[in-house]
Amino acid sequence: MPTINTTFVPADIDATDLAQIEPLYQELLDRSVTSAAELETWLVDRSELDAACSEAAALLFIAMTCNTNDEAASKAYTHFIETIPPKLKPIAFELDKRQAKLASELDLNSARYEVINRDTEADVKLFRPENVPLETELAKLDQKYDTICGEMMVTYKGDEKTLPQMGVYQESTDRAVREETWRLVADRRLQDAQPINAIYDEMFGLRDKLARNAGFGSFTSYAFKAKHRFDYTPEHCFAFHEACEKIVAPFARRLDEQRRQKLGVETLRPWDMTVDELGREPLMPFDGGADLVSKSVAAFESLDPRLASMLRELGAGDGRVTAQNMKNPPLLDLDSRKGKAPGGYQYMRDRSRVPFIFMNAAGLHRDLETMVHEAGHAFHSMLCIDEPLLHYRHSPIEFAEVASMSMELLTMPHWDAPGSFYEGKPSDHARAMRRQLESSVTLLPWIATIDAFQHWVYANPTHTRDQRTQEWLSLDKRFGKGFSWQGLEQYRDSGWQKQGHLFGSPFYYIEYGIAQLGALGLWIRSLEEGPKVAIDAYINALSLGGSRPLPELFAAAGLDFDFGPKTVEKLVARVEAELAKLPE
Ligand SMILES: [Zn+2]
Repeated sequence: MPTINTTFVPADIDATDLAQIEPLYQELLDRSVTSAAELETWLVDRSELDAACSEAAALLFIAMTCNTNDEAASKAYTHFIETIPPKLKPIAFELDKRQAKLASELDLNSARYEVINRDTEADVKLFRPENVPLETELAKLDQKYDTICGEMMVTYKGDEKTLPQMGVYQESTDRAVREETWRLVADRRLQDAQPINAIYDEMFGLRDKLARNAGFGSFTSYAFKAKHRFDYTPEHCFAFHEACEKIVAPFARRLDEQRRQKLGVETLRPWDMTVDELGREPLMPFDGGADLVSKSVAAFESLDPRLASMLRELGAGDGRVTAQNMKNPPLLDLDSRKGKAPGGYQYMRDRSRVPFIFMNAAGLHRDLETMVHEAGHAFHSMLCIDEPLLHYRHSPIEFAEVASMSMELLTMPHWDAPGSFYEGKPSDHARAMRRQLESSVTLLPWIATIDAFQHWVYANPTHTRDQRTQEWLSLDKRFGKGFSWQGLEQYRDSGWQKQGHLFGSPFYYIEYGIAQLGALGLWIRSLEEGPKVAIDAYINALSLGGSRPLPELFAAAGLDFDFGPKTVEKLVARVEAELAKLPE
């Protein structure tokens, strides 16, 4: 990997200040570039400047999500988002055009620059000025969808609650509570089914127009290019659908049948799908962020000391981002507390090349899953820090999620290691592993449902609402779970509307399916060839960042880039066999 040092961007630049960054971007537009060597320097300079801007946004985002009550932090983030990216977008497009032109004129090392060149070329070719207002229109429609969903509240036992807040009642061991709360939520969604249908009607029409303006026959081919999907086609996605229909959905239904028997109910209903089958209390494997980190380190130590030492570099897990340290925050902010945004994420600070992990740990097993997942993203970031090009320090989601999802599976047998979560608790450990293995495959048919739905929508740009509903119902039959919809048909028709990706990020979702198959493949390697071989392959592949096409990233991990029945059959058979070995 070429190491090119650059002092183009001053170390102390304030990238939230347009007056400091704009002249540097202008310099890149004006600079004379006449040789491949000069172009390589230009690329690294641009990369450092982009990284400085990205890091400025990261720090503001981190400060805001860690202190939602801090008005100054939230104002600073909003101000940045509203002023800097809109100004930089047109400059970035001019730079892309220049970069694509220079790359084709000057003789760059073709293997090294293959990926960045094809991505930049695609972005330049897709751009149409007449599409800018259509994109704005689409963004507004998506906002409208978010607003409608965000305003959905229900009253339960006298309290106003959001729909996500209602989720906890699906874990209640009282079936009547589950049914009542499920129906409250479903009724609330149904009230807005028609306005949401209207938004989607407008969206797919606009997207079809966008694609035709850019010279494509359909939004599908446009979206594949815009998403830089050069290494797979709709046919690969159809093979994934077939595998989910023929192999995964039947397996998931067998699990559902086991669930029905364990719950002791005659017919499984939609409100029976989340509760613990044996009516047990939730697992509470740790207490506080520092305990979470030390138990995670113990599991990684038992899996592979190289991973444990990377996790240790992030700190003890007892830090928190405050108004005082937000410019140079600790690397972990884990504990749930008032004034923290929901969820979990890993955010690489692109210039200083230091990762940050955010989560809301409350002591539950799912926090452990989040921790090892986000740690996988952090390992990915850390293994790429010597790569000079920002574009190559991040990989496409199809592989980035292999880095994280595989850690959930590979650490699993080590959750009972000395000092780790389930040391001396074999039945809790087995329960946690069962949950992990089951969930690693049962989401796949839903991913296929959403992906197949979108392929149908954009292949049929003149469809009616009624046809869309019929298509949804046939997909739900093809991939759906093993519970009965009897008497609930009115809710089933609009089941797709809760998947926000359909609105804001079309065609985005199958990436998680592709990555999950890769993670399972790596897990099987660890079972068959030992963890050392699997982690060698993992580190080898992650170190490539995004510098190679997807099939090569998978190959570097010893995985086939295939998501059809042949691959899926082997993975599901192994999951089923391993599940059978676990005690209840
Ligand atoms: Zn992730």
